[in-house]
Amino acid sequence: MRVTEDKKSNIIQDALEVLRKYWGYNSFRLQQEAIVSAALEGSDVLAMLPTGGGKSVCFQVPALMKDGIALVVTPLISLMKDQVQNLESRGIKALAIHMGMSSREVDTALNNAAYGDFKFLYLSPERLATRIFQDYLPVLNISYIVVDEAHCISQWGYDFRPDYLNIGQLRRYCDAPVLALTATATPEVAEDIMDRLSRPGFRNFKLIRSGFERPNLSYIVRRSEDKLGQLRNICSKLKGSGIVYVRSRRNCEELSSFLNSLGENTSFYHAGLSSALRTMRQEEWKSGKVRIMCCTNAFGMGIDKPDVRFVLHYDLPESPEAYFQEAGRAGRDGKHSYAVLLWSSSDIRRLKQIERTSFPSLEYIEGIYHKIHLMYQIPYDAGEGRMLKFDLGAFCSRFKLQFSEAFYAIRYLEREGHWSYAEDVDIPTRVQIIVSRTALYDIPLPDAAMMPLLECLMRNYPGIFSSAVRIDEDFVAASAGVQQGQLRQLLYNLSLNHIIRYIPAANSTVICLCHNRWRPGNVALSPGRYRQLQDSFHKRLEAMTDYVAMDSDAPDAAVLLREGKLQCRSRYLLAYFGQAESGDCGHCDICRLRKRIKEADPAEDRLEKFINIEKSGHYSLGDIPAADLPLLRSLIARGTVPPPGDA
Ligand code: ADP
Ligand code: MG
Repeated sequence: MRVTEDKKSNIIQDALEVLRKYWGYNSFRLQQEAIVSAALEGSDVLAMLPTGGGKSVCFQVPALMKDGIALVVTPLISLMKDQVQNLESRGIKALAIHMGMSSREVDTALNNAAYGDFKFLYLSPERLATRIFQDYLPVLNISYIVVDEAHCISQWGYDFRPDYLNIGQLRRYCDAPVLALTATATPEVAEDIMDRLSRPGFRNFKLIRSGFERPNLSYIVRRSEDKLGQLRNICSKLKGSGIVYVRSRRNCEELSSFLNSLGENTSFYHAGLSSALRTMRQEEWKSGKVRIMCCTNAFGMGIDKPDVRFVLHYDLPESPEAYFQEAGRAGRDGKHSYAVLLWSSSDIRRLKQIERTSFPSLEYIEGIYHKIHLMYQIPYDAGEGRMLKFDLGAFCSRFKLQFSEAFYAIRYLEREGHWSYAEDVDIPTRVQIIVSRTALYDIPLPDAAMMPLLECLMRNYPGIFSSAVRIDEDFVAASAGVQQGQLRQLLYNLSLNHIIRYIPAANSTVICLCHNRWRPGNVALSPGRYRQLQDSFHKRLEAMTDYVAMDSDAPDAAVLLREGKLQCRSRYLLAYFGQAESGDCGHCDICRLRKRIKEADPAEDRLEKFINIEKSGHYSLGDIPAADLPLLRSLIARGTVPPPGDA
């Protein structure tokens, strides 16, 4: 016993050493140590820590201590790039493979992963199923299979991504332990994650979670038919950096200009802006040059700004998961902060509407499946692996479809594993040489740098005469000895001279087809699953509407509170995520109401105690002070308290 404990503390000492060396932190946070040591023992681990809780070092430290390379599956390309850069800045070798890379780039990366001394390979989940990855798998010395945002593997979760199911397959071919991390999982989803990530027929998971309390965060909910007025008041009253979450892109812009017209310093952010502009705005807000960001939920993932003083939700979110994540971006530094949610009756109507459009009929969904293939002229039994540059607007106007319904049908088909859908993908430059090899040398070229460039292209991309091939701009520029800007200019001029076809790099929405086109009637869409998905969607909406229906401004709020129908907001949210044992936060709007009532009327306090006594057993009228009897009678009449034993 002594020996194993000593050994364990040695391991932790070594882990601390790694933490200090690469990160400069002196200690692990609560639970990080438990996660790291379970991982080092070789258990499969599901770690649940809140956003900002420090999940990354939980897998990065063990991976640095083991031989081999850690495979990190993560859904967002932008986060992947950030993490790789972050590791590199600490002198740790890391790689990423994501959508939009050419097969040559992927091959180079996998080759490095297998034979270079890299410690981390970040992968987007759809890559796991590719032939080339499967080919490399036997020669990769994998230390851990890390699954970041692990809730994406659960169909019952709020952010299911079918590509994550590939990870389960991986476990058949790879012995490495799994380290799964998430900030949002209900107990049901946590079970599902562990089931899906277990080795076939063998479940050996350690679930390690920390409390999700945010003691410095005040949850405030306000029902208001004048949201603009509320917004104005809140922004002027609360100091410091803030985020205003809005549902629609148009509203982001409008609210931002409304606030600016009042002298506030705000900007806006949504997925419709160019990626350069988004990066710039994010920086301006992070540095404090802009105080308040009005944005859609496209903003915030992976942003690690500690001193956000408030997060205001201008529209009612669709799930407690999304709400908790977004609200949780306030107050990372531990100082007092606010999470304010405004809602009105029209929000409830809107959610009902969303629920209807989110689940178009299965016939409609199958129709969308075929229309997309039609749009790209893909015949039956073909198309697997094709990457389609997709424009929802063009698609809808071509087939006269309603925007949101078509969008949800596309997402539904993604859920069902027919394709993956990604917004904001960088698509690399493609080039084809459209004159013959022999003719090439007879054409007078206007620029001396053109010939070396063409030779470089011919040497490295053998298929370049027959079709447009993806080129790696950095690589070509370096081997042809030109700057990147110059390279683009040369390519452009070559295309003007009808020597090449040049398709410049772009940023776009992409649909990747997972299999050949099915024939009508064969598109696998299970009605049973459809109903279950609908049902779990409905439960999340309901949890959210119940959350706001607890109204501390209601005329009968005091009575509702007494009857236990209003509950501390923090407790409500924590209970939703399966944390049963937690106390009242003391500063959400409902806890504040409780305080006000007690201060105004000490009898409340007595009665609350009394009701608690009653819950645990019997009481008799003789126990009740005479002054409280009228209150007691009204409670009995409402059915909150049963009649006394001696009645
Ligand atoms: P999560 O993925 O859980 O949202 P991150 O892994 O991005 O969180 O970590 C959030 C922040 O906390 C990062 O800036 C990280 O460097 C920092 N951090 C993590 N662990 C520690 C620690 N033990 N001591 C100090 N800072 C830490
Ligand atoms: Mg993270």
